[in-house]
Amino acid sequence: MQPWEPAGGVVRFRHCGKLVFGPHVPAHCPACGRHLLYRGLEQAPVSVPSPFVNGHTRRCAFLLRPTAGTFLGEYDGKSDLHVGITSTNGLVYNYNETGIHRVEFGWEQCISIPLVQPGMYGLLQRWDKYLEEFSAGEAWLPHRYDEHNHNCYTYALAFINCVLAAQGKQQMDKNEFTERFVIPQTRKASKYITLYQAIAENCFYTVDISDQENDACEEDKLLN
Ligand SMILES: [Zn+2]
Repeated sequence: MQPWEPAGGVVRFRHCGKLVFGPHVPAHCPACGRHLLYRGLEQAPVSVPSPFVNGHTRRCAFLLRPTAGTFLGEYDGKSDLHVGITSTNGLVYNYNETGIHRVEFGWEQCISIPLVQPGMYGLLQRWDKYLEEFSAGEAWLPHRYDEHNHNCYTYALAFINCVLAAQGKQQMDKNEFTERFVIPQTRKASKYITLYQAIAENCFYTVDISDQENDACEEDKLLN
């Protein structure tokens, strides 16, 4: 499959009882072939936001990306994922079998979970110092790495807990963090990937909405 980079993103519109997703709004409906005329706002095209962002532009965030390749490229839904934490200026700290890395590129297409609420200036000011000091700990030397029990996720979560502790807040275990913050995002991402791959293959992707008429918002079902 030719990787397709939707510069303008994905658009969605309704026509003839279907939800149509595509790279742009065509002159004719890809489902019924009729000229597209919108009768009212609910039929007007809207853009579908991508769940992926450039991690280097997100400060103080937890990032997730495939260990190899990209979500919209080689990722098959099962390959290994890698996580990292950003500094206040987009440097991504991450841990693997060769130790701690601080990188300026490579995390351009990620899922990002913000870790600092707006307005927490005190924490923002100390963030980089915390991150650097934490990462220098001997727990993150290369020989301590273990694929299952002491990996990139262990590092990121331990850092998050270190920050929580410094603020006098309760720690989070792996399951809690994953369920509350990671799974909602990966669910959105996997639906977007499905959509993206269908569009890359067939240009347009249509979903029958006639049997979902009672549902208040079909998009919620598809993209949330
Ligand atoms: Zn149509």
